[in-house]
Amino acid sequence: MVFEGLADKLQGALKKLKSKGKLTEKDVKEAMREVKLALLEADVNFKVVKDFINKVKERAVGAEVMESLTPGQHVIKIVNEELTALMGTTQSKLTFSSKPPTVYMLVGLQGAGKTTTGGKLGGYLKKMGKRPLLVAGDIYRPAAIKQLQVVGQQLDIPVFSMGDKVNPVNIAKAGIEHAKQHGNDVVIIDTAGRLHIDENLMDELENIKAEVNPQEILLVVDAMTGQDAVNVAESFNDKLGIDGVILTKLDGDTRGGAALSVRAVTKKPIKFAGMGEKLSDLEPFHPDRMASRILGMGDVLSLIEKAQANFDAKKAMELEKKIRSQEFSFEDFLDQLQQMKSMGPMSQLLEMIPGVNSKQLKNLEIDDKELIHIEAMIQSMTKEERKNPSIINGSRRKRIAKGSGMPVHKVNSLLKQFAQTKKMMKQFSDMEKSMKKGGKIR
Ligand code: GDP
Repeated sequence: MVFEGLADKLQGALKKLKSKGKLTEKDVKEAMREVKLALLEADVNFKVVKDFINKVKERAVGAEVMESLTPGQHVIKIVNEELTALMGTTQSKLTFSSKPPTVYMLVGLQGAGKTTTGGKLGGYLKKMGKRPLLVAGDIYRPAAIKQLQVVGQQLDIPVFSMGDKVNPVNIAKAGIEHAKQHGNDVVIIDTAGRLHIDENLMDELENIKAEVNPQEILLVVDAMTGQDAVNVAESFNDKLGIDGVILTKLDGDTRGGAALSVRAVTKKPIKFAGMGEKLSDLEPFHPDRMASRILGMGDVLSLIEKAQANFDAKKAMELEKKIRSQEFSFEDFLDQLQQMKSMGPMSQLLEMIPGVNSKQLKNLEIDDKELIHIEAMIQSMTKEERKNPSIINGSRRKRIAKGSGMPVHKVNSLLKQFAQTKKMMKQFSDMEKSMKKGGKIR
């Protein structure tokens, strides 16, 4: 769950207000004290917390409450709005140069996820219809060039490199020239990182900046490092001037401090969030949606976007037809599983649903391995068996179990579940039909 501890504590503090019909100044003060503690514990910058609490208090005490809300809900609304403002209010999109290629320079400390993020960003832009080129400008970290080449290969995005003996400024220049000649309209330059900020590194980055005049300098920071990430961002911004931040590892066990402070401290927007190690795990950063997630209000918009990006409308229609006509087979089931898997881990999807909190997620024990097992069992079935599961007798069950490396009782329960699901689908579909007749659903 995103910022699990923070989310639980904030929701806890605000829950007490929700039920109250009337709020006194003391109620608000007390809730704000808990909110303040939760934010500080999440490693949010002290000054940012102080300003935040003052703003919320100022707006909450003595405010006119809308008729549709209880006073408690009104305070939650204010907290939501101020959290959103803290993270930048609206989504800050990438800008493109009017004269291609658009050059983005990725900077950041070693291990922040720069090289991985370069690939992710390339993949994101490619999906938008761009033709990106990755430029390997990190000549110091052993294997950085190779890593970028592997990432490029996985995404089918070209990588420009000149080995590790050429000055990075010249590599960047030559890379842009290469892009112009090969029709690449976006250039992403991976630059060197260091363990700490040092003069040499900043000089080198400044030289690249002066030479290539990038459209945007994007700073990659590791959200797990909390306040350190914010300090790094401040230094890079002071010395080099950055245009935006990409926060990585938001999927991990981060307390949230970086995400909530970096914008307020540097005044530079968070443009993307890295949500996992896979190359598709990069999401545009939406302050409003992130605030809603933290407050347990879900993020239905992101969920829908994920679904739209991964689902095929034509396939969905075909599926609906099959469900209605009782033709839904294991083949379709497998298809569904694979589409779902491409959207990311189940737990990440579920936490976007309003009202799902971390405790419920744990209780559900959503295990992605379970899906892999189911997939293996279906894959061990013959085409005929997938279409017509009723032919799967004892010896076939044994064969499927062996083929998938699962015990027979797992195969049995999969078959049983499938039969039940199918029955349920028919019931739903019949119910819908009869309700339509009755004119209840238009
Ligand atoms: P660089 O030194 O800044 O180029 O960092 P790398 O790109 O080599 O990344 C360092 C490590 O962080 C690698 O193991 C990546 O897989 C991992 N990583 C990068 N981004 C993310 C992310 O968003 N989530 C998670 N969980 N891991 C990430």
